[in-house]
Amino acid sequence: MTTNADLLSRRNQAVARGVASMHPLFAARAANAEVWDVEGKRYIDFAGGIAVLNTGHCHPKVMAAVAAQMQRFTHTCFQVMPYESYVALAERLNALAPGEQSKKTLFLTTGAEAVENAIKIARVSTKRPGVIAFGGGFHGRTIMTLGLTGKVPAYKTGFGPFPADIYHAPFPNALHRVSVEHSLEVVEYLFKVDVEPERVAAIVVEPVQGEGGFYIAPPEFLQRLRKLCDAHGILLISDEIQAGVARTGKMFAIEHSGVVPDLITMAKSLAGGFPLSAVVGRADIMDSAAPGGLGGTYAGNPLACAAALAVLDVIEEEGLLERSLHLGEHLQGRLREMAGRFTCIGDVRGLGAMVAMEFFKDAERRLPDSELPKALVSKAAEQGLILLSCGMYGNVIRILVPLTATDSQVDEGLSILEKSLASLMEKVTA
Ligand code: PMP
Repeated sequence: MTTNADLLSRRNQAVARGVASMHPLFAARAANAEVWDVEGKRYIDFAGGIAVLNTGHCHPKVMAAVAAQMQRFTHTCFQVMPYESYVALAERLNALAPGEQSKKTLFLTTGAEAVENAIKIARVSTKRPGVIAFGGGFHGRTIMTLGLTGKVPAYKTGFGPFPADIYHAPFPNALHRVSVEHSLEVVEYLFKVDVEPERVAAIVVEPVQGEGGFYIAPPEFLQRLRKLCDAHGILLISDEIQAGVARTGKMFAIEHSGVVPDLITMAKSLAGGFPLSAVVGRADIMDSAAPGGLGGTYAGNPLACAAALAVLDVIEEEGLLERSLHLGEHLQGRLREMAGRFTCIGDVRGLGAMVAMEFFKDAERRLPDSELPKALVSKAAEQGLILLSCGMYGNVIRILVPLTATDSQVDEGLSILEKSLASLMEKVTA
């Protein structure tokens, strides 16, 4: 039998060190919210391949749609000979994206590519170079998107220089004593000391920060950003690559605030495990790039488009927006119970089923504990649960369980989480 240890040693010999893996475990097969490693051990999956599997592993409808497409053709390149699924998916996303205005869509392959292209479109449309992003934000690993990303170790370390005309303001975060007022004041300050607003093409914001720690942008913040953008002719880009596609109980997380962004980037759960990303936005802005200015060989691949059309059907047919809200309440309820038992949990939060808990060393919540989440991720895996940490301070455990998971799978995962935490804590207060 192939073992995890054998594969780990081959991996370490063959694969670049910069690609880190959270677990020394190798996947053999998966279904919905369960995954089995090469040694036959079963895990409940609370990571969903980092927010890719809102419709679960290998959803039968998604698999059937891809299998049917595979029988017809797998690639022509949309720029050479287009196909209907790309167009049909664009039509559906244009209708789903917030706002009554006419919209258009561009498909790409990765999340970073979607953000890169949103910036290209914003620049060509406004004829301005500047971009403002936020501390703790994550937008990808290409040079432009790393420039936008607001966290140095380990994403940015050693990889610069990054493109010019990128500016950062703090993301509002009440828990870490950053008010909405302060964030907006810093944006105004940037206009005074770094760049005049007339040179800013776009402000890029995650409505719920993903890698940054599942911090939820207050609706008031997004509303005031929208006003600021309108006052200066700046475009507002909502990066929904992690928070979008039903995760938060709405198709797009920014809908919770009522704000209509100019452009939305999406990827991950859009195609249930097949590589696909998109920029959806106001038609006049989307059309500002000249023919040939946008695209990519694999961008909007037919297998991925077939998968995404099936994903949108599944979200509708299985009522996954509703499910996300219920699941979120249940997850937060159980995590709050755990917070009552373990004082190291300083905060439990969520928007729909985008749920997290944050660990501190002290009751005043001044000293983030980044060691405990690491230990918890390993301990949980031993017990049969795949977990993910995140956060500016590395002290957050995030839950991205498929929205299609059964109640019993979710509860099994939560019980493993609680048991793992209990076994790590010296002082259990209950
Ligand atoms: N934006 C956000 C909000 C993300 O969470 C991610 C990925 N974690 C990206 C962009 C980059 O996506 P990808 O890894 O597919 O390039």
